[in-house]
Amino acid sequence: MEHREPRRRNVKVLATLGPASATPEQMRALYEAGADAFRINMSHGTAAERADLFAAVRGLEPVLGRPMTILADLQGPKIRIGRFAGSRIELEPGQRFRLDLDPAPGDSRRVEVPHPEVLGVLAPGHRLLLDDGKVQLKVTAVGDQWAETEVVTAGPLSNNKGLNVPDTLVPTAALTPKDRTDLAQALELGADWIALSFVQRPEDVAEARTLIGGRAALMSKIEKPAALKAIEPILELSDAIMVARGDLGVELPPQLVPGAQKALVAAARRAGKPVVVATQMLESMIQSPSPTRAEVSDVANAIYDGVDAVMLSAESAAGRYPVGAVAMMDSIACEVERDEAWAKQMGFAETTPEPTTADAMCAAARTIQHVVSARAVVCFTRSGSTARRVARERIPVPTLVLTPIQATARRLGLTWGLHAVQTRDVTGFEEMVAKAKRMALRHKVGEAGDRLVVVAGVPFGVPGSTNVLHVARLQGDELQRHRRRE
Ligand code: PGA
Ligand code: MN
Repeated sequence: MEHREPRRRNVKVLATLGPASATPEQMRALYEAGADAFRINMSHGTAAERADLFAAVRGLEPVLGRPMTILADLQGPKIRIGRFAGSRIELEPGQRFRLDLDPAPGDSRRVEVPHPEVLGVLAPGHRLLLDDGKVQLKVTAVGDQWAETEVVTAGPLSNNKGLNVPDTLVPTAALTPKDRTDLAQALELGADWIALSFVQRPEDVAEARTLIGGRAALMSKIEKPAALKAIEPILELSDAIMVARGDLGVELPPQLVPGAQKALVAAARRAGKPVVVATQMLESMIQSPSPTRAEVSDVANAIYDGVDAVMLSAESAAGRYPVGAVAMMDSIACEVERDEAWAKQMGFAETTPEPTTADAMCAAARTIQHVVSARAVVCFTRSGSTARRVARERIPVPTLVLTPIQATARRLGLTWGLHAVQTRDVTGFEEMVAKAKRMALRHKVGEAGDRLVVVAGVPFGVPGSTNVLHVARLQGDELQRHRRRE
């Protein structure tokens, strides 16, 4: 089918690809079930496997007649311990356990941490979390090349488990040598978004921005307490953020994560930048065909908070029910967005317009849509900036985005409420109105008799000049009268 109509919801679904969703058929099934964007985890797979995933997603574009959005997620400076003789050990509560730089296989008294920069910043009293927090240590003494710890929460430990160091800023580079190689590959393959893991400081984001050089948009994953503290400058330098609850819930006591999530969502919504909520959203669907009530509630609550996208990780990448998990998110979203309380809640009091013409126009578009019950917003944009400011208003009807730029259409796939279509630019006012009506009918965001709110900029074709607001009424014969190739 060529021209796809918008989903029946505004929130987007971001599905991670992996062994359970690696073929073009499986990806298409995810798209049909409701996946709007795909995440490729650069921690896994060979270069050739990733190239196949990119090619398969891009291959769907001509088949489905829709721009596809690809987020390449860099592994980042994830800290891991070394190996044990016999692969695993058992720690006892209260025992001493030493971390050092010796690559010899570890035992129940010591193990290698092959990161001198980490050992160098530890101080007595710091907590160390291993294997997603299942094992907790407390630093009791430190030297240049070692740390002595006491076991607070005991348990088994095996080779190369992750180590989280929540109590201090770790002087790791924003991107490891592996990240640099992966980034180059992701850009080469045409990723629309790059996700940066374990961001700690605004400088980390600035460094990645320079490397990306505008070839993709940048999403900062918020999974370190240090990033939470510096969220405003980090947001300023990022194009989007992810509430990465997996690692965040290890670095912070898990009971602090919901509050952090709400604060992050509010901050991103104020900034008008997409915010993705990630990890364990439908975790039980890795194994089970139906989610828990608590998971359904978690997804729904994120949507009531107005997040741009909800994400699936292993559920779609490696689970038994990848399509079922996407379909479940889709139906939760449709149900939430049918609720009148949801539409009320989208008028988030804190998202007051910034003192710019663009924001004034977009705020007015929201009022007009509400007052005349317009069926859709139609937005002309080149860079995507007008569309993002419209999305910031959370107008509870579909927004059809018309852009001549393919990269813009693809990037907007993660933003709340936007249905982007690549099409030729307009050059004048009459042409703009006619095209808005024709495209609205073709993409089924309205019918004869419906009103549309049109947002654009003049002079046409110049970015950053949002200053046209127009209300159009659809007539039934619009599609026939102006039938032309777009
Ligand atoms: P990850 O990031 O899955 O790459 O670790 C998400 C998270 O930590 O929640
Ligand atoms: Mn993470």
